Amino acid sequence: MPKLSILTHLAEEHGTPLFVVDHETLRRNYREFTRHLPRVHAYYAVKANPDPEIVRTLYKLGSSFDVASISEFRMVYENIKRLPAKERRDFIWDKIIYANPIKDKFALEELDAYKPLVTFDNREEIAKISRHAPHAGLGLRIRVPNTGSMVELSSKFGAAPGEAVDLIQVAADAGLVVEGLCFHVGSQCNNFENYVQALSISAAIMEETESRGFKMKLLDIGGGFPTRYDLSVKPFRELAEILNPELDRQFPKEIEIIAEPGRFLVATAATLVAEVIGKADRDGRRCYYINDGIYNTFSGILFDHCQYRVKSFKKGRKEISAVFGPTCDALDCVSQAEALPNLQIGDLVYTENIGAYSNASSTGFNGFPAAKVIHINL
Ligand SMILES: *Cc1c(COP(=O)(O)O)cnc(C)c1O
Repeated sequence: MPKLSILTHLAEEHGTPLFVVDHETLRRNYREFTRHLPRVHAYYAVKANPDPEIVRTLYKLGSSFDVASISEFRMVYENIKRLPAKERRDFIWDKIIYANPIKDKFALEELDAYKPLVTFDNREEIAKISRHAPHAGLGLRIRVPNTGSMVELSSKFGAAPGEAVDLIQVAADAGLVVEGLCFHVGSQCNNFENYVQALSISAAIMEETESRGFKMKLLDIGGGFPTRYDLSVKPFRELAEILNPELDRQFPKEIEIIAEPGRFLVATAATLVAEVIGKADRDGRRCYYINDGIYNTFSGILFDHCQYRVKSFKKGRKEISAVFGPTCDALDCVSQAEALPNLQIGDLVYTENIGAYSNASSTGFNGFPAAKVIHINL
């Protein structure tokens, strides 16, 4: 996090609410990821925070990208097509994977020209892809355990491992090639056993498909890599120490391993500065109203099941207080119990580690605009 004096200075200059993205932290997170997982190529999951400056910084470090909609695809493509020609290829997979298993026909028709890599998990999708994006390569998304992840995804996506071989055959019959397998263990996965089981399931499927004459090139281990919001989250190094030997043991060198980290790269790279705009005592509890809330930067409280801490710049004896957002909705509660000193209207507060799944889903409900974004250490 930037120094407190820098945050107050920026808030004075730009006003609040202010969403401060520190690109030095972004670079540090990317380097930590690649240093600990040397065999894994990172495709940043753009949905975690689709800011084009974030895409550019990660691109310069060598990152590729995971997109989940055609507008994310266009945004990333616009930002990377300015490359020198020699760095471009005639297909886009080495830079972009379209990892939403469900795509409408318009998205597929637009993607087809790029010979994209797209994921799928069912027969209907195969028929749609072969019709609207026959030049696409395929990644089969399989269902894997999500136990203990903060956000589970298995109820929405993923073919049962037992269906995998049949689906690969159906794709082949439709003239498509399944290049590899993908999974997602659920977001903020602090149960590393999920990854171990997902790798074993993947290896078993690859073995079975090979015996049926299909050779795969790629394993996509998805996202889920946990951010250390607090010390109950185990260090990334410990996950890497489990993953690296498993990858080498179960997947021959020819299999390319990619991952789609979202939260891990951006969560710690942004800090929100907001301002106290109202104050009341209700039933003996002090209540603060700040100028950002769950309809904007704190949207992750609802959508991401993430709990954020609100901290004050001011020192003083703390009292358990409630913190509300600015809208007229009672749901707009940032925290029921925050230890805060006696704040006055106009005082600033801040929230760390709020870079992922936060302003990405700001709604602007009630006419309150999303926090202004500024970038430091670009
Ligand atoms: C959301 C998502 C990611 C990113 O997940 P994180 O938990 O933020 O790392 C990666 N891949 C897919 C397919 C996703 O849907």
